[in-house]
Amino acid sequence: MKGLIFSIKRYSIHDGPGIRVTVFMKGCPLNCSWCHNPEGISPFPETVLQTNRIGDREFSSNVEAGKYYTVDDILEILDKERVFINQSKGGVTFSGGEPMLQAEFLREALMACKGKGYHTAVDTSGYSSIDNYSSIIPFTDLFLFDIKHLDEARHIESTGVSNISILDNYRQLLASGKDIMVRIPVIPGFNDDPEYLERLKHFLITTKTSSLKKINLLPYHKIGSSKYKRFNIPYRMGDVETPSGEKMQLMKELFLETGVKVKIGG
Ligand code: SF4
Repeated sequence: MKGLIFSIKRYSIHDGPGIRVTVFMKGCPLNCSWCHNPEGISPFPETVLQTNRIGDREFSSNVEAGKYYTVDDILEILDKERVFINQSKGGVTFSGGEPMLQAEFLREALMACKGKGYHTAVDTSGYSSIDNYSSIIPFTDLFLFDIKHLDEARHIESTGVSNISILDNYRQLLASGKDIMVRIPVIPGFNDDPEYLERLKHFLITTKTSSLKKINLLPYHKIGSSKYKRFNIPYRMGDVETPSGEKMQLMKELFLETGVKVKIGG
């Protein structure tokens, strides 16, 4: 069996503990307007026309987005980094796109990585069936779980899908006993007003179990916009600005009231 992957990042330090290899799996059922990996959304291999600028000259070239890998290919990459992974108590993280879209391959890969003693993490939007989550729970040490918005209508507006199954899956994973880090993308004008943040804090407190280890506040940034330009994809965020450091700090203080560790960034 093969999995469609659009990038593999070595020495990753923002996708779970220690130094990790992050495997970006292609395909996502969501279409968030702030997505930093637009080339990861289509579930098919693509050739993307990339435009690079040097001074006032532009150069265009075709870039392959999406290549098939076997589980053994992934293990081979991990084995080359084993020393760094072991010394830093790191591991492997499957991200995307949405890795659950290739649930069967993901399960095989996680099982093989666990079999070789690697710490495993899955970075997910939460949008998949509970059966798919149940199938990977035994081989997953940590879930990085996105909560984008609690309101269904707002969620649909900015991501294209309902959040009902996402919030159900979140509760189920909290009951699984596996470690969970909640990731909240902080998007100005979407999920950063004080009233909403109070409501989100309340939700995190009332659903909390010992599985919830950390809350990561991920400030919106414009780094992704250059990728849209390079790949000639329209950027929908307009001139939305990165939230200030002061605002992020206030948010951190608010979420510390959940009794859970809070970090600004991944
Ligand atoms: S869930 Fe993540 S990968 Fe999918 S569209 Fe949203 S930001 Fe992009």
